[in-house]
Amino acid sequence: MGHSESEALDVERIREDFPILQREFDGEQVVYLDNAATTQTPEPVVETIADYYRTTNANVHRGLHQLSQEASIAYEDAHDRVAEFIGASGEREEIVFTKNTTESENLVAYAWGLNELGPEDEVVLTEMEHHASLVTWQQIAKKTGATCRYIRVEEDGTLDMDHAREIITDDTAMLSVVHVSNTLGTVNPVAELADIAHDHDAYIFVDGAQSVPNRPVDVEAIDADFLAFSGHKMAGPTGIGVLYGKKHLLEEMEPYLYGGMMINKVTFEDSKWNDLPWKFEAGTPVICQGIALAEACDYLDDIGMENIRRHENELAQYTLERLDDEGDVTALGPPAGVERGGLVSFNLDSVHAHDLSSILNDSAVAIRAGDHCTQPLHDKLGVPASARASFYVYNTREEVDKLIEAIDDARQLFA
Ligand code: PMP
Repeated sequence: MGHSESEALDVERIREDFPILQREFDGEQVVYLDNAATTQTPEPVVETIADYYRTTNANVHRGLHQLSQEASIAYEDAHDRVAEFIGASGEREEIVFTKNTTESENLVAYAWGLNELGPEDEVVLTEMEHHASLVTWQQIAKKTGATCRYIRVEEDGTLDMDHAREIITDDTAMLSVVHVSNTLGTVNPVAELADIAHDHDAYIFVDGAQSVPNRPVDVEAIDADFLAFSGHKMAGPTGIGVLYGKKHLLEEMEPYLYGGMMINKVTFEDSKWNDLPWKFEAGTPVICQGIALAEACDYLDDIGMENIRRHENELAQYTLERLDDEGDVTALGPPAGVERGGLVSFNLDSVHAHDLSSILNDSAVAIRAGDHCTQPLHDKLGVPASARASFYVYNTREEVDKLIEAIDDARQLFA
């Protein structure tokens, strides 16, 4: 495809890579706007998965036969490709393949948090954290006696940075912050937050589930100590997540899971751990998924992450504009005109989000309704749920128009 950076996307061409977008329900072509939950998978990635099983499938690391060697090289190289995608100069040693973002969060919470936190320590989060980090750190804090504190979210959906500077102190051991909110669309100033954390000798864990798939992210530029994301939100398969960690931190950390592959030497009395990143990949790893994720990185880089960011922001801004037409919609997050991730959560005065989502389904428009795994944030905003339209590289303004038409139909139904 060879899009250079800062170029309008050839969306029609890109859509050809995603046959699922041609599906019809009752004669209506699907309008897939649930990309913050899971993105669709392009042909080159589907082909990589099929090819792997057709030509290369074998277990990795321990085999001396040709298939195992080929699978091992492809799997190990996939770590380097993912490292390059996020600007990690430590290459494979800094990239652990997990099951998803949630497992990456738990890995650090258990392997680092459980050993390092005590009653004198604080973990700082934000009020807009996804349950993947909020519940995880909350429960590890309970086990260790540490305290969780939350940076306030302002009316306009941004973080209260004065409050951040107030509650990130020398007692802070870990700051866990979502880069782009999956509910508000807010883009948080993670580099600035990393500086504040580091000034107090605290670490920063960046939840990149909604940023790495949708915008250029350079872990070293933002100086993240840890960063997590999921393959299934970035044109890759389900069943794979990534944990980036600075090499010295991963070296110091104890393993999270024990078993085969993660060891170097085992006796009846004790065991020694394998090199990074294998120390954190116990048992047969996510071989095919890892190789397919590397292909997804190629696919996205070919389009250009900056192009993807701009395209999604434009669709989100257009959606905010169109939703505003009738005056009965409350959109969550930053107001129109402010840069946001490619999603808009909203509520209609007259139709509950769940009803809206199922009525939209009748027009083959797929959105999500619920708390989007941010229950405390919804409580704070005083709404039990919201509807969320979220975009990816293949969505169009015409699809936003169909969303708006379907919302109009729902209004009529409830009028
Ligand atoms: N964090 C954020 C911001 C997310 O949007 C999600 C997925 N909704 C997750 C974490 C969890 O991702 P996964 O379900 O792939 O573990």
